[in-house]
This record gives sequence, C-alpha cells and structure tokens, in this order.
Amino acid sequence: MADFMNRMPLNVPGKYYVDFDCICCGICTLIAPLNLFVNLNDEYGYVGKQPETKEEIKAIEEAIRNCPVDAIGNDGEKLKTEEENDESTC
Ligand code: SF4
Repeated sequence: MADFMNRMPLNVPGKYYVDFDCICCGICTLIAPLNLFVNLNDEYGYVGKQPETKEEIKAIEEAIRNCPVDAIGNDGEKLKTEEENDESTC
C-alpha cells in the first residue's frame, strides 16, 4: 500500500500519487500514459496530471492494480485534508 507521507516530490497535488517504493519499471506509464510518468534521470514514477475523465480514472486504477510494488496511492485527497487539519490544530 502506497504511503502518502513518502510520496515523490514531482507528484502533482491530488488524489493520486506515487511513493518512494517505486522501482521505475514503467508499467504504469503504459497503462495510464496521460497521468503517470517516469523521471528517467532519478528513476522514479510520478503523477504528472491528476485524472479528469472516467477513462483516465479507470486507467490509473488499473495501474494501481498492476504496480508490482504497490507504489501508487489513491488516498491523497483524504490524507491531505487530515494533514491540513492536524496543522491547523497546532
Ligand atoms: S508501476 Fe509502480 S514501480 Fe512501476 S513505474 Fe509505476 S509506480 Fe513505479
């Protein structure tokens, strides 16, 4: 299961993200090429664009199921909200 707190820095904000468990296999970019990308210099994947259409959501959810190391998360919006709430109570 992907860890929101360990997400890659290049992810755009939103529900979906890739974390540091990524091994840069590239499978997800074949399944969801409009949303998932790999940084070949540093060798990691990231969400470059959050999905906006049903087709893109279907593709990125398929990528989650096919990631060999469970590095793609889909709970970013929920956890971001919890993170913001924690910060506001300090
Ligand atoms: S499928 Fe998983 S391990 Fe492979 S590049 Fe995508 S996020 Fe990284």
